Amino acid sequence: METFRTFDDFDDLKTHVEEFYSGRKIGLVPTMGALHIGHISLVERASKENDFVIVTIFVNPKQFNNKSDLSSYPRTIERDKALLNQFTNVAICIPKENSVYPEPDPYLGVDLGHLDEVLEGCYRPGHFQGVSHVVHNLFYLTNPSSAYFGLKDIQQFAVIKKMNEITGLNIELIGCPTIRSKEGLALSSRNEKLSNEGLRQSLIIIKTLRFVEENKTQYSPDDLKNKAIEFFQEGNLKLEYLDIVNAKTFKQIRNFEEPSVCCIAAYCENIRLIDNVLLESVLDNEKLK
Ligand code: AMP
Repeated sequence: METFRTFDDFDDLKTHVEEFYSGRKIGLVPTMGALHIGHISLVERASKENDFVIVTIFVNPKQFNNKSDLSSYPRTIERDKALLNQFTNVAICIPKENSVYPEPDPYLGVDLGHLDEVLEGCYRPGHFQGVSHVVHNLFYLTNPSSAYFGLKDIQQFAVIKKMNEITGLNIELIGCPTIRSKEGLALSSRNEKLSNEGLRQSLIIIKTLRFVEENKTQYSPDDLKNKAIEFFQEGNLKLEYLDIVNAKTFKQIRNFEEPSVCCIAAYCENIRLIDNVLLESVLDNEKLK
């Protein structure tokens, strides 16, 4: 067993993998750093299911449609390394931009269709193309057997699935459950910027998602959406969207027989927060495939 290593270059990482893990199972956990227990849950699972795990930390400029959001994104590399140090089969890769986007660039673009037009796609133009591009290149450069993503970003998971299919990379994709604070707020690197009052006010998000879960048998999807918006507006957050859609296609649903998800994006103290709840009794990765 090996000790924990940090790489800042895919060539060194590739040499290391070829030397020690040739033919073995490699897991990839792409992140933008400022790691918290949500990220660590992905690493833990990847560490159990693979011989070797690569955690990438790269704040991807291509997925930020707002430049001040990019410059103010939290960067806590030393703390991130300390958090990952506990794993014996994990390495961190902290690549430079020109190594993630080499010339010529292996990404040829992917038509994300409807997924790029609704919810996050609608409010963050260019965001999902940026995500698709970076994840494609990370897959291409690290060649993992499987890759781990949080279902907190469920639309992002659908985008990556589509990119993976279209490009034929065929990496096994694992969607992992959302990790929350004990009060129910989905953990996010952005939460660090909230005041204590902001953290308290943000709980309206999970309260609304629970309201939707509890009332899905009482109303039609449209009526439930309207009731949920009313419920949310009793709090102090600025709502960007609340919608109930098919959890795979992100199209409108007619009834709750379909795999459905309620997604919310809202601002608290100028920090954009997103969360969702799958409207099924069992959170089943198989159903999202
Ligand atoms: P990020 O660093 O925000 O790009 O996130 C890296 C990965 O961690 C993504 O697959 C996210 O969906 C996942 N992730 C972020 N927050 C959580 C959370 N609270 N629970 C589970 N996964 C998460």
